[in-house]
Amino acid sequence: MSIAAAKSGTAEKSSGAGKPRLVMKFGGTSVANMDRVRNVARHVARERAAGYDVAVVVSAMSGKTNELVAWCQDAAKVYSPREYDVVVSSGEQVTAGLLAMTLMGRSIPARSWLGWQIPIRTSDAHGAARIEEIDGAPLAEGFVRGEVAVVAGFQGLAGDGITTLGRGGSDTSAVAIAAAIGAERCDIYTDVDGVYTTDPRIVPKARRLDRIAFEEMLEMASLGAKVLQVRSVELAMTHKVKTFVRSSFDDPDAPQPGTLMCDEEDIVEQPIVTGIAFARDEAQITLKRVADRPGVAAAIFLPLAEANINVDMIVQVASDDGAATDMTFTVPGAEFERAKAILTRTQSEIGFASLHGARDVVKISAIGVGMRSHAGVAAKAFKALADKGINIRAITTSEIKFSVLIDEAYTELAVRTLHSLYGLDQI
Ligand code: ASP
Ligand code: MG
Repeated sequence: MSIAAAKSGTAEKSSGAGKPRLVMKFGGTSVANMDRVRNVARHVARERAAGYDVAVVVSAMSGKTNELVAWCQDAAKVYSPREYDVVVSSGEQVTAGLLAMTLMGRSIPARSWLGWQIPIRTSDAHGAARIEEIDGAPLAEGFVRGEVAVVAGFQGLAGDGITTLGRGGSDTSAVAIAAAIGAERCDIYTDVDGVYTTDPRIVPKARRLDRIAFEEMLEMASLGAKVLQVRSVELAMTHKVKTFVRSSFDDPDAPQPGTLMCDEEDIVEQPIVTGIAFARDEAQITLKRVADRPGVAAAIFLPLAEANINVDMIVQVASDDGAATDMTFTVPGAEFERAKAILTRTQSEIGFASLHGARDVVKISAIGVGMRSHAGVAAKAFKALADKGINIRAITTSEIKFSVLIDEAYTELAVRTLHSLYGLDQI
């Protein structure tokens, strides 16, 4: 995204009074009904009283977007992406208007902003648009009038069409607006009080992190932790937006700070492993006796890439006879059937004996920037998992994370084992 510096510069100048600015984003459960909307207004009132010009970004009420998506699917088997966006963007319009009214009811001047009114310009990829430019000036002019800007998240404008940013996209709206208006902070309010070392529903001993490095958060979000949309973390990282994940369920008069996403250098005591993530929506495909010759990997993966299927872990077994090898890889669970169909179609071309698939697998990952400077971090995990009798089907590693693919039935055991192995259990 190019948030034009000149534009935020304009915004800066027109603020006149020069109050610090704050973006507050509230997710679906935080605006689930009118009581929750009134609760949001209390959080906003507190920050305004603390001296901030506030832009609030809201999601649709929880469950609303799913309902809207289902209606689209009901309306037509193959629906128009343009009309899909007209429908699914409407949930945020409702909450933006309701919150603006509620604030005015508390004598706080406010107005709602839809994506096209600012505008938030995006690519024209309906349903998965990327923000390209935001003009911060209109919001800044509202601040001069003393208004809280209530922005509908998740939506933007391409040409004359409404776009949406992909599921979870309100996080991205919030961070992008924070960058565009030069906000001091972006607070993402949700139903948990921060980012945890792992999912506390799986590991009751999981701890809330005070800080997490941008890069770690990026890996956590990509590898299955569902706190933030991945794109929002990328944006926060490139635009250096100081972003907190915190709870709207705290008492609005005694809020907790939550978890800060920040540069690695700003974390004093860096553990080797910061968190354990897991993703159940993975599927494994194994091709048996693939011809062991140059070009075979391309023959397998190019057709999948052309079909927009993301291949993740890849393991090729060395052939013992020099003629054939086994190839194992993972694809998103939702793409499993499509991937199998494509591979079966090209079987004679690729030259493999048989295809085996499994959906009951889980990818478990350990993440930490401390891995850069420590050897043997992953090896320790392989040993610990083996001691519990857990078989590893595939492994990938990178500078700051490693992932293992195992049977789904062992998810909890494996996550708990790694969580205590790396000293993450709460004492
Ligand atoms: N309401 C949208 C969704 O459910 C966007 C968001 O909440 O971030 O995906
Ligand atoms: Mg969300």
